[in-house]
Amino acid sequence: MFFIFIFFAILLNLAFYLFIDYPIWILIINIIIFIILLIFLQNKKSQEYNSDNVLPKKDNVINNQPLEKKDVEGLFIDQFEDIIIILNKFNNIIYNNKAAVENFGINLEGKHIGSEIRIPELLEAIDQNKIDKQLKKIDIEINIPTFKFYRASVASIKSDQTLVLIRDFTEIRKSQNMRSDFIANASHELRTPLVSLKGFLETITDAAKDDPQSQKKFISIMKDEAEKMERLIEDLMSLSRIELQEHIRPKDKVNIREVIENVILLYDNKAKEKKINITCTVKDNQKFVIGDKEKLSAVFSNLLDNAIKYSNTNSVIEIKNSNHKSDIENFVSISVIDSGYGIATDDIRRITERFFRAENIKKLKIEGTGLGLAIVKHIVNQHRGEFQILSTLNKGSEFIVKLPLFQN
Ligand code: ADP
Repeated sequence: MFFIFIFFAILLNLAFYLFIDYPIWILIINIIIFIILLIFLQNKKSQEYNSDNVLPKKDNVINNQPLEKKDVEGLFIDQFEDIIIILNKFNNIIYNNKAAVENFGINLEGKHIGSEIRIPELLEAIDQNKIDKQLKKIDIEINIPTFKFYRASVASIKSDQTLVLIRDFTEIRKSQNMRSDFIANASHELRTPLVSLKGFLETITDAAKDDPQSQKKFISIMKDEAEKMERLIEDLMSLSRIELQEHIRPKDKVNIREVIENVILLYDNKAKEKKINITCTVKDNQKFVIGDKEKLSAVFSNLLDNAIKYSNTNSVIEIKNSNHKSDIENFVSISVIDSGYGIATDDIRRITERFFRAENIKKLKIEGTGLGLAIVKHIVNQHRGEFQILSTLNKGSEFIVKLPLFQN
């Protein structure tokens, strides 16, 4: 704008000189003034451009100074789920967010990282980063006291400070491990009877082809092996069905006492074979629950089947209301109690994992798929109930199922 104005001013001066009586020295002085003004404006513009884009502004001193706690606190990084830690040049923690406190404990600030976070791979990455200033990315797996899987990045920032960013991948890793364990276990469990079936088939058609008595014996074993495979496939299928439906809560009014009494009838013969007496006492005012009859029948079938399988002959199994506490508002608590082989304390927390079978039971060579209690747990979860296990090795077990009561 100014340039156009100066240009017209010079043109006007020239016109005055040409058309009216205008002294030449005034014209020369005016043109000199305009040229000086032009140079001055040009300089000012280029200075403004430099200060915006290249040179630091006076109040932007943070760029040249180490970051401090107050600088990062304003960035809302406390709300991040990732763990963020900033170290000074001596590797002392000058800032950590809330996630860091949750994972590594309180009072991290001011302490040396090596004394607070004892993860050798991470400390090594920090030291390496101090030397070469290169971004380091590492995976960290911790197994004690509990399994943890972290992915950490270590980067240098201002004035020899180091930024440590750690993301918790524990849950994702756990489900990846579970999936691959599940495939490995399922294949192994199916392969064992299959290999045995193949072996007996070969014997029948080869070495025992002219021995009808051996053939009969082998065919009976093959039938058992085929049934084992069938049971395993059935359990796998029902487990996958239940997992798919776990988010859909059943809504029917179910008479739980009736369900249990029917299950007892189903297992009557099996119990008699071991001379086991089953008693059932479910209170009249606590017999209706919210649920799915078939699925609740599967819960008590699995529990009763186990109680018979893992009990000594001439024992008693009780199914009754119990007084265990729960977070559910109106609930019924039903216990299946046996005085059988029991479960070792360390095994109790793993007993509902798919394919997990306790050592004491494996030693006794009692048949099973290791899927029954996983099915029970998922069905109880689907009913928004609770499942609890109390047990003492060689004394017996109590399996507690808590279900929301049906309200009229
Ligand atoms: P399965 O009985 O087919 O092995 P489950 O999932 O029903 O599979 O049970 C898992 C494991 O829990 C069993 O192998 C056994 O070690 C233990 N278990 C279950 N019920 C009982 C019980 N009533 N007494 C002792 N151990 C039990």
